[in-house]
Amino acid sequence: MENVFKHSVLKLTLDNIGECIFYEDRNGRMLYCNKSYIENFMNTGEEYKEYNAIKSKEVIENSKALKYSQKIINTNGEIKYFEVTKIPITDDGQNVNAILNIMKDKSYKYELEKLRNGFFSNIKHEFRTPLNMIFSSIQLLDYKCKICKIGNCKDCFINNLQLINTNSLRILKLSNNFIDLTNIQSGCMDFNPRNHDIVSFVESICDSINNYKKFKDISLIFDTNLEEHILRFDTDKIERVILNLISNAIKFNIPKGYVYVSLKIEDKYTKISIRDTGIGICNSKINTIFESFSNVENRFTKVSEGSGVGLALSKALVEIHNGNISVESKVGEGSEFIISLPNIINESEEIDITYYKVDMNSLERIKIELSDIYEQ
Ligand code: ADP
Repeated sequence: MENVFKHSVLKLTLDNIGECIFYEDRNGRMLYCNKSYIENFMNTGEEYKEYNAIKSKEVIENSKALKYSQKIINTNGEIKYFEVTKIPITDDGQNVNAILNIMKDKSYKYELEKLRNGFFSNIKHEFRTPLNMIFSSIQLLDYKCKICKIGNCKDCFINNLQLINTNSLRILKLSNNFIDLTNIQSGCMDFNPRNHDIVSFVESICDSINNYKKFKDISLIFDTNLEEHILRFDTDKIERVILNLISNAIKFNIPKGYVYVSLKIEDKYTKISIRDTGIGICNSKINTIFESFSNVENRFTKVSEGSGVGLALSKALVEIHNGNISVESKVGEGSEFIISLPNIINESEEIDITYYKVDMNSLERIKIELSDIYEQ
């Protein structure tokens, strides 16, 4: 009875673990296999069988365990990568008369590696483009100064210094995003929410952008009939999110396009909408758009630059407010990003009306956040 119990528990265990297990005699005849093995290996082609036979032969000849990687295409047509361990089972005379095979699915490691490689090749490009522009502007300045006979170099200097400045800001933005995303993911981000009027806060950001610069004839329109609405939020963080979404809405827009920013107050949440008339986002991409480093598309087919860190950071910054961020989009028609912030205020705290002045610091932040819009 006890043995029957042990046997059924063992079978239950073997059939419910992720590892694929099969047991073969020294002639390659299968003596046992578990459920995972059937699911993953039963319909694999001749190539796998032949390779398995070669490796089993090696184990029998050397009487030593073996570990190696095996790529297979399983019954569902999926490509998977397994780590195979072959353990020799010996008789009293130390002859190998069977082999226990344990296969662990390591496909996630290859997926991670693929993501990592895609991400690093994008980042390399992201750093190189502005750095190349900085270097070529410096070279050009140097060359022009050497051959200059007029002595009035002001215009030439101003143009090239502007290029150097914008491209330095791009690198700064990229570095800031990386540092902040890492900080937030490790729980090290400082968070200072206070009571503020969200209506004039969002309006001030839009006004500042409009005063700062016009992009490719794109119109940024702030539209609301709300007077005032007090919420508890961290202005630095929400400013960052709004600037990132507006920057994308401009970057991925069409010439003479529009960006509409509006506010809506619902029962539990205040919703800030950033809608554009741009290129839109395809269905296959929209579900992963907020994931870190999701932007691993081909650089040469891209409409505009980007590291794919901005939206992941925006999502994290909204979530520390217990809010959320969502997107709806149609290819060729445009996209709408909605930030939802909970309608919470701190009753014991005054309303901070000194929160948002268009000063040098806020202008610098705007310049940094909008620096990666490359205009033709
Ligand atoms: P970055 O803009 O630095 O690449 P983001 O995380 O901000 O990083 O955006 C990720 C990707 O999402 C962008 O590269 C772009 O392909 C897509 N995207 C974001 N916003 C928009 C938008 N408003 N319209 C179209 N595509 C967008």
